[in-house]
Amino acid sequence: MLVVDHVVAVDEIKCIGCKACDRVCPTGAIVTVDRIARVDEPLCTGCDKCVDACVDHGAITLLPLATARTLRTDFRTCDPVALEALCRTAQLDPDDSVCPCTGTKAREIAAAILNGAHTVEAVTLQTGVRGACSIWCSSPTVRLLEIAGFPPAIEEKDWRLYPDGVDPKMSLSGISEEIAARYPEYHLVENRQVLATEGRVDLPFFPSIMRKTK
Ligand code: SF4
Ligand code: SF4
Repeated sequence: MLVVDHVVAVDEIKCIGCKACDRVCPTGAIVTVDRIARVDEPLCTGCDKCVDACVDHGAITLLPLATARTLRTDFRTCDPVALEALCRTAQLDPDDSVCPCTGTKAREIAAAILNGAHTVEAVTLQTGVRGACSIWCSSPTVRLLEIAGFPPAIEEKDWRLYPDGVDPKMSLSGISEEIAARYPEYHLVENRQVLATEGRVDLPFFPSIMRKTK
């Protein structure tokens, strides 16, 4: 669940139309047209990625909402058999927490997809995942969409990859010991051990922030 208590606004005088904000927005809420960034407020999750992207120009400011919006999906609205099957086929336990920022479980993303969210942007707007840091939740979101038959088009240029040194097609076991040691906060070694212990397959690793390209 993600509570959206603010959106953003663009100062058209300061905006130079560089599109840096477009590229990091998880929902397509900010789009540059005629060299001015414009915000579609209902699509904004208040993640502030665009604010960070625009730090050199300071053209984006926060706009508090009079009434906060809540992004969440009720998994009980879905066929439980279909929901379980989708999660298990994606090598996820339905109860897996896939987004530390929003506390979203795999079953909620699966429910959103079964309820008609067939793009990463739509999943974000229905569940809140990718609406904050986007680091942990991107991979399971992509996997569930792929399994459900709605694979997002992923090209390396569309993704800002974390940790440095991985690529979008790399699997967890393909990450070098050096990279695993350099980024202990990703628990790469521990995750490999869990996969081996639980007999799960070695999945593609997408530790990334989704980017849009124009
Ligand atoms: S990053 Fe800032 S300056 Fe660049 S297009 Fe967006 S709002 Fe304008
Ligand atoms: S990057 Fe985040 S804060 Fe900026 S427009 Fe998109 S959703 Fe809103």
